[in-house]
This record gives sequence, C-alpha cells and structure tokens, in this order.
Amino acid sequence: MLGLMQDWPLLIHRIIDQAARQHGSQEVVTRSVEGPIERITYREVHMRALKVAQRLVQDGIKPGDRIATMAWNTARHLEAWYGITGAGAVYHTINPRLFPEQIAWIANHAEDRMIMTDLTFVPLCEALADKMPTVERYIVLTDKAHMPATKLKNAISYEEWIGSVDGDFRWLSLDENSAAGLCYTSGTTGNPKGVLYSHRSNVLHSMAASGVDALAIGSRTTILPIVPLFHANSWSIAFSAPMMGAKLVMPGAKLDGASVYELLSDEKVTCTAGVPTVWLMLLQYMQKEGKKLPHLKRLVIGGSAAPRAMIEAFEKTYGIEVLHAWGMTEMSPLGSLGSLKASVDQLQGAALYDLKIKQGYTPFTVEMKITDDSGKELPWDGKTFGSLKVAGPAVAKAYFRVDENILDDQGFFDTGDVATIDANGYMQITDRSKDVIKSGGEWISSIELENLAVGHPDVMEAAVIGIAHPKWDERPLLVVVPKEGREISRENVLEFMQGKIAKWWMPDDVQVVKEIPHTATGKINKVTLREQFKGYRLPG
Ligand code: AMP
Repeated sequence: MLGLMQDWPLLIHRIIDQAARQHGSQEVVTRSVEGPIERITYREVHMRALKVAQRLVQDGIKPGDRIATMAWNTARHLEAWYGITGAGAVYHTINPRLFPEQIAWIANHAEDRMIMTDLTFVPLCEALADKMPTVERYIVLTDKAHMPATKLKNAISYEEWIGSVDGDFRWLSLDENSAAGLCYTSGTTGNPKGVLYSHRSNVLHSMAASGVDALAIGSRTTILPIVPLFHANSWSIAFSAPMMGAKLVMPGAKLDGASVYELLSDEKVTCTAGVPTVWLMLLQYMQKEGKKLPHLKRLVIGGSAAPRAMIEAFEKTYGIEVLHAWGMTEMSPLGSLGSLKASVDQLQGAALYDLKIKQGYTPFTVEMKITDDSGKELPWDGKTFGSLKVAGPAVAKAYFRVDENILDDQGFFDTGDVATIDANGYMQITDRSKDVIKSGGEWISSIELENLAVGHPDVMEAAVIGIAHPKWDERPLLVVVPKEGREISRENVLEFMQGKIAKWWMPDDVQVVKEIPHTATGKINKVTLREQFKGYRLPG
C-alpha cells in the first residue's frame, strides 16, 4: 500500500523559491571580480536566475544540455546555477586551475554548449576556444562597461545577455532524478571522470549538510564559502545557504589572508569553509597583524587532512570551533564531519584533539564501511584499517559516459582512501590507496609526472612522492634513475618538463638516485621510497 502524500519532486529551483519567499531581504555579498563589494538579496538572485533560465531557453538550450561555468564564487555564478538547473540544463563546473589540455578535454567530453566565465579566465578561454568546438557561445560574467574586446564566439556580457528578457518564466518541471550538475574529478590514471549530480541528490545532500551537527546553517548564520563552487558544489553551500536563508558572503578571486580576513571581519561571518592551505594563510595573517575574529564561531576544514596544530591554534588562541570534514567529488561531496557526539562531549585536552584530527562521522544519507582486500567488513575499533567504502542517495553510482560498474555487490563505492573507524563511529583517513599529491587542495597526479619525466632521453625510471610543505600541504619530489652511462641534473629535467604541465604541477625538486625500490610484482614501492626520503627537506 502506498502512502497518500503529495508527489513534490526535490528540484533545485524549490531552494531559491524558498529563499526568495521566506528570506527575500537576506543578503548575498560579493567581492566582485571587477573590484567593489556588491550586495544583492535572495529576492534579486531569484529574479535574475529566472532571467538566466528564460534566456537559455530562448537561446535553444534543451533539458540535459551542459552549460559550463568557469568562475569564482560570486552572486552571478550562484544565479547562473539556479538559472541553468531551472531551465532543465546541467551546470558543468570547470576548475580553471586544471592544465589547459584537461580543460579542453572535459569541455569536449561534456559537450558543453556554452561557457560562462569570469573576466579573469577570458584569455584562457581564448587560448582554448579552437579546441572546444561544441561551445556555441561565451558569456562573460560582467556588465557591458567591463566587457573586454574578445573574438570568443558570440561573446556577450552576462548583464546584457539577461538584460534582454523580463524574467516572466516558469521553472521547468522535471523528474527529481534528472541531471543537474557535472563535476570532473581527475584521478591518478586515465582521463578525468565526470560525476553527474541530480536535483534529488543535491537537495538531499544540502539538507543533510545544513544540520546542526554538520555545517549548522540557519537563517541567523552568515557563511563564507572559500571552497570554490567548482570544487564539488562548494561542499553544498551554494544550496544549503539559500535553503536555510543564511547570509552568504562570496569571496570572488581574492583568497589571500588579508582579503579573507577583511570579509570575515567586515561582514561578521559566523561560519566559513575551505581547505587547509587557505586557513594557513589566514592564521599567518592574523598572527602577524595581531587580529581576532570575534564573530566567527565555526571554521570547517576539509579536502585534505587538517593538521593538529592548525586545529589547536584556531580553537585555543582564537576561540573558533574547528570542524574537520572529509568527502569527495563522488559524494556531492560531504562524507563525514567531526562534531562532538554526546558520547565524546566531555573530552578535554589532548584526548579532545586526538578526536578532532579524525575526519568525523557520517551524517544521515551517508553509510560507510571499511573492508579488507577480499571485501570483508572490518571492525570499528579505531585500529584496524581498510578500504573506505560508502553508499547513499548523494553518492555516485557511475561516471558520466563511462560504461563501468563502480559499486561492490552491496552497492558501496570504494573511495580509494584507507581508514579506521572507532567504536564511536569516528573515521580517520590513514592513507590514500592512490598516491596523488595534494597541493593547495588540488590534486597532482604522480603517475602523470612520472610518465613525463621518463620521456626525458636520459631518464630511465622516475617516481614522484609528496613532501610535506608548510603552505601548500604537499609538494611533489621527483626521484629519477639515469640511464646507464648518462648524467642528469635537476635543472636539466625540470627544463624538459617546463611547459608540458601546469606550472603548479612542477616538482619542487629532483633527486637523482641509482635505484628506485620495487614491490614483489615489479611496481614502484612508494612506501619504501617515502621512508627513504623521510628527513628530506624541499629547497627553500
Ligand atoms: P576531491 O574529490 O578532489 O574532493 O578529493 C577527495 C579526496 O580528498 C578524498 O578521497 C581524500 O583522499 C581527500 N580528502 C578529502 N578530505 C580529507 C580530509 N579531511 N582528510 C584527509 N583527506 C581528505
């Protein structure tokens, strides 16, 4: 027997409808790419999103078509997402920090029909335009006065583009399982893979993410997402803030310590979220300038492991509660958060921070388990580690246009992380099964660097490992074995790699060795290699 309740599909436009109706005068503040601080309300965001949707339909965009955004966190970017999904199309967030070849690859794979981009990335689009033939139009997220002269196909400023319609539009009615967003994740091998979020998954994920033991977002919250919209849905904030009526502060392109501090302080931000690298810059700035942030209650750290010293500095010196979170693009992305349950609420001193450095427990909508290599579940004892696997309505079941089963026979997705789970349900990442290097919250593929290095005529074998770095979290160290009878130098190898990869992918150092350790099956043994370079310090 079925229940007799209304069929009310979980569609993204309902979020911005709610924000406009119940929190219409609530502000969205942006440090604009053009410079000044701009303020609009949810009522205006709603109206402008309707115009985006109306204009997209007028331009011939059909349900399911992909519209790329390559942009900073701004109100315009936010409106664009609601407009795109309200027209039944799919927002495809492109991370502008990817190597240009990768950007072209994913735009082609997604068959993006339009690209909405900030002034910052117009030159990048110009350089790539020839390689992205599916793109019919470029919309620059600015007004007519700031619109640069460009040869980009059908280029128009966003304000002119939406200025031609009146917003008299009805959101498309769709199945809640329709695709809404697309974000590519770059793994260690092969091409980037597209994670395709649905309306339903985004709505459910955002509801779970805003709960008091998760990000704790409410109508009295002022939240500043440092985490970009192009990094896995800005950890839900682009949806959960309007859903709950929180004041939203968008930092635009300036993410240095001083700029972030200024916004956090001036706008009396109560909650903020980002990767460790940005918090390191903020801490350094606050320490140097002797500043405090009396309004900031919660600071969420995720994307890479939060260092203990960082958690302690924010909590003990500044009285800001740190919430350590873990997740991945495939999980929309939030998988676990480190709020204190009643059972651990009394912890103090070192024991408290032993818990806080863990990645936390799953909110409702995420299930997790750890297994051994045969898939057998392992105990939650805080010691035994295994492959971390997850399931839930906002976890990927397949990649976009990849015909491959990615779930185990119980429907769990293997995260590629290795973790322990303790008796209280708190998970801790102990290692990554893959050896990607995390630099400033972004991934550097060690295999790609190795492949490139062995392309050097004098290099026989190469291995790349991550070395801890005070600012960027990790930086790559390249270890090479020269071909017999040949000599190689650090400069020589780096020069060879120059221009073939993004600048920030360049190894910080090269060490020439006689031999690289191997496992029994002939693979490079990175555990041993890391051991060998334990005391090693990067130059500078
Ligand atoms: P991405 O899909 O780019 O967000 O990367 C997801 C991966 O980042 C995870 O599988 C983890 O390896 C890593 N990660 C994310 N958050 C954390 C964290 N708090 N601690 C350690 N690793 C993390």
